[in-house]
Amino acid sequence: MDFSLSEEQRAITRTVRAFVERELFPWEDLLLRRGMESVVTSPGLTKDEKLLLQKKAADHGLWGVSAPEELGGADLDPFTQTLINMELGRTFISFTFGGEASPMLYRCNEQQRPDYLLPVLHGEKEMCTAISEPGGGSDVRAMRTTAVRDGDDFVLNGEKMWISRALESDFAVVFARTPEEGAGGITGFLVDRDLGWTAQHIPTMGAEQKVATMHFEDVRVPAANVLEGVNQGFDQLMRWVYDNRLFRVSARLVGAAERMLEMGTAWASQREVFGKKLADYSNWAFSLAELEIELRAARLLTLQGAWKASAGLDYRHESYVAKVHTARLANRVADEMIQLHGGMGYAMELPLERWYRDLRVIRIYEGSDEVNLASIARNLFRGNVRLGAVTD
Ligand SMILES: Cc1cc2nc3c(=O)[nH]c(=O)nc-3n(C[C@H](O)[C@H](O)[C@H](O)COP(=O)(O)OP(=O)(O)OC[C@H]3O[C@@H](n4cnc5c(N)ncnc54)[C@H](O)[C@@H]3O)c2cc1C
Repeated sequence: MDFSLSEEQRAITRTVRAFVERELFPWEDLLLRRGMESVVTSPGLTKDEKLLLQKKAADHGLWGVSAPEELGGADLDPFTQTLINMELGRTFISFTFGGEASPMLYRCNEQQRPDYLLPVLHGEKEMCTAISEPGGGSDVRAMRTTAVRDGDDFVLNGEKMWISRALESDFAVVFARTPEEGAGGITGFLVDRDLGWTAQHIPTMGAEQKVATMHFEDVRVPAANVLEGVNQGFDQLMRWVYDNRLFRVSARLVGAAERMLEMGTAWASQREVFGKKLADYSNWAFSLAELEIELRAARLLTLQGAWKASAGLDYRHESYVAKVHTARLANRVADEMIQLHGGMGYAMELPLERWYRDLRVIRIYEGSDEVNLASIARNLFRGNVRLGAVTD
C-alpha cells in the first residue's frame, strides 16, 4: 500500500478544497437561515443555485469526475474520487459537480442516453432511485412492487418509501419484481414522472434529505425503458452499493468529521470557562485527541478500500467496514462537538446542529450499521476474509 499522492492528486485535492472554501462555505449561512425559517421543508441549494455552482466548478476543470471519458468525463480512479469526496464532505451542503450521474445511469443504452443520462449530466433533469418499500428496506429481495409485461409495456403496481428527491425528480429508476419473466427477479426501469406515479412528502429529522413515498397504480412503462436487462436489477444494485458506501458516503463522512473537529479545536482554543481555555481542561483535550485517532483510522480505512478498488481488487469487505466506522464516528463527532460548544452548539446558527440531524440517517441508509455488521460477520464466519487483514 502506498498512499502518497501523485502530483495530479495533490493538485485536484487543492483545487477542490479551494472551491469548497471559496464557493460553498459562503452559502452555509444562507442555508442555515433557510433551515431556521422552515424546519420541515428546509431546502438545500435550489436547482438554479446548484447549476450556477456547477458552472463555476466546471470553469476550474471540476466536471464529470467519475463519468466515463466517452461522455466527456475524467473517469478518475476510485482513490482520487475518494479524495475529492473527502473535500466535498467538509461542508454540510449536499453538492456534486456537474457531469455526474448515479453510476446506474451510465448503464443506459444508446437509445436511453439522450432522455435520461445526458440531461442529468447537464443538470437539466433530476432523478431519484426507488428501491425501498414500506415492507422493508434492508432486505431488498423482499420488495413487493411488480412489473408485468403487457404488449410493449410493463405495468407497475406498488409503493415505494423513503425515496430521496422523489418530490422534485423528473424521472425515477424504479426497481420492481418481474415474477413472470424467466426465472423471475428484480428489474430496473427508467420511469418518467408524467407516466403517472405520485409522491407524498414524509417529514423527517434531517434537513438535507427530503424523502417521499411513491405510488404506482397501473403505471405503464415502455419495455424500451428497462435498464440493462430484465432480471438484472439485483446485480445492478449490488454493484452500485459498494462504490456508493465507500467512495462517496464514507469519504464524505471523513470530511465532515474533520471539519467539525477543526471547529471544535478552534473553539476549545479560544473559549474560556472559569478563567481557563476549554483546551486547558484535560477532558476536552483528551476528547479531541481521541477523536483525532478515530478520524485517522476512518481516513485510513476509507483510503485502504479505495486503494483496493483502484487496484482492481475485491473491496466489498472494506466498504462494509469503512461505512460502519465513518458513520458512527461522524455522528459521535457531531454530538461531542455540540457538547463542547455548549449553547452555541445547539443553536441553528452553526452547522453542528444541522449536521447532528442530517448525519443520523447515515447509520440507517446506504446499508445500515446492522446490515454492514451482518455482512462483516458473514465474511468472517465463512472464511471469505482473513481477520484483520488489510494487505490481502
Ligand atoms: C432520509 C432517508 C433517505 C432515503 N433515501 C432512499 C432512496 O433514495 N431510495 C431508496 O430506495 N431508499 C431510501 N431510503 C431507505 C433506506 O435505504 C432504508 O430506510 C434502509 O434500507 C433501512 O430499511 P428500513 O427503514 O425498512 O428498516 P428495516 O429494514 O425494517 O430495518 C429495521 C432495523 O433492523 C436492522 N436490521 C436490518 N438487517 C438486520 C440484520 N441482518 N440483523 C440485525 N438487524 C438488522 C436495521 O439496521 C434497522 O435498524 C432512505 C431512508 C431515509 C431515512
